[in-house]
Amino acid sequence: MSDLHVIIAGGGLGGLALAQGLHQAGISVAVYERDPSPAFRNQGYRIRINPDGITALQAVLAPAAFELFAATAGHPGTRMDAFDHRLDLVHGQQLAPVPGLPGAGRLAVNRRTLREILLSGLEKSVHYGARLTHYRTEPTGPVTAHFADGTSATGDVLIGADGVNSAVRAQLLPEARVVDAGLRLFYGKVPFAGEADRERIPAELLGLWTTVIGPDRRFIGLAPVQYPEAPHDAAARLAPDIALGAGTDYLACVFGARRELLPCTDEQLFAMTGPDLRELALGLLESWHPTLREIVSRQDPASVFPVSVRTSVPVPAWETSAVTLLGDAIHVMSPAIGVGANTALRDARVLANRLVEAAGGADLLAALHAYEAEMVEYGFDAVRESAERGHQLVGQDPLPTA
Ligand SMILES: Cc1cc2nc3c(=O)[nH]c(=O)nc-3n(C[C@H](O)[C@H](O)[C@H](O)COP(=O)(O)OP(=O)(O)OC[C@H]3O[C@@H](n4cnc5c(N)ncnc54)[C@H](O)[C@@H]3O)c2cc1C
Repeated sequence: MSDLHVIIAGGGLGGLALAQGLHQAGISVAVYERDPSPAFRNQGYRIRINPDGITALQAVLAPAAFELFAATAGHPGTRMDAFDHRLDLVHGQQLAPVPGLPGAGRLAVNRRTLREILLSGLEKSVHYGARLTHYRTEPTGPVTAHFADGTSATGDVLIGADGVNSAVRAQLLPEARVVDAGLRLFYGKVPFAGEADRERIPAELLGLWTTVIGPDRRFIGLAPVQYPEAPHDAAARLAPDIALGAGTDYLACVFGARRELLPCTDEQLFAMTGPDLRELALGLLESWHPTLREIVSRQDPASVFPVSVRTSVPVPAWETSAVTLLGDAIHVMSPAIGVGANTALRDARVLANRLVEAAGGADLLAALHAYEAEMVEYGFDAVRESAERGHQLVGQDPLPTA
């Protein structure tokens, strides 16, 4: 074990993946998460994991934990089709399979299961109820993170993995902006209690991701999450030390529209219950194919929640210090191409490698600089591409210039 001590603000997918990578390498790490417990909040929506995400997880997780991840991830294939609201095919797309990776590089996971795997072995390193408010750095020495309850923690480096409203970013890069992209999503789940439920969905709507675009570019996104094996059984077989909650199959079903097409203010929208949101979506899908209306009407009402699509505006590189950023904290993006989490996982892999070099004697600031130089390139490329696709496809606001 080296003397390097890393503190991470935020125990989401990116922060935990980094903590895993450091833990596997024997580097001292502590994660400070504002939530009071791991199961606080709805942690269970569908995440598509692409080759970047799979490669990153393979690099940071212990082999048994990675096997468990692969065994609990659905294999939805490589089809990404687009239909119109009458269910006529507009555009069929088949992604290239990536040999050598589970699911040919295209997996669909339930975020809660992935987070449970990412927490495994870190029980002593993750501190809950710790909301970072600010930090202090010494010119040549450690950095101290301060939390809302008056406590603090000191380390050689602080990583802000604290998501879209990052307190670390607000202090480190006050000029960096996150803007409303003009879209609102209602995210819900259609439960697959058994084979009969699944068979009620036409097979052509069960690809990796299906987009249905109707009048005014209102849209529906559909994507199945199907556990190949019950999570508990997979854990017992592959990694008995990892406790996984029960997981049930479902179809992720997202309704989206420009905010001005909704008959309510944001304040009203975010105060609505799941059943109200489902009714609102159905009201905006009146002329749509009955199969699509039926799918939306079968959403579990308790599962429906609203999301505002926001995006970061790329910033130029900054002067490296002992504080850096990872994931949504620096490059939150529109979900148009589904790579926000994958980019956060890639950050974790790249940064873990650089910190391992620093723990082995390389200069810490040079290692952090190398991470930032690489991350800013691919991270903001993903932000730009997501904004462009979201604009073309569903009328997201264009990305403002910096
Ligand atoms: C409905 C939905 C579907 C999505 N689908 C996909 C997909 O298919 N593929 C994909 O790649 N991406 C997807 N994304 C995006 C993806 O979820 C995010 O990009 C990803 O979770 C970012 O990881 P992160 O670790 O940077 O941030 P988060 O996962 O948001 O984690 C941040 C953590 O920091 C904590 N925190 C916040 N503030 C503080 C503070 N001050 N102090 C301490 N802790 C703090 C939070 O509680 C949270 O646990 C989806 C997002 C949504 C909402």
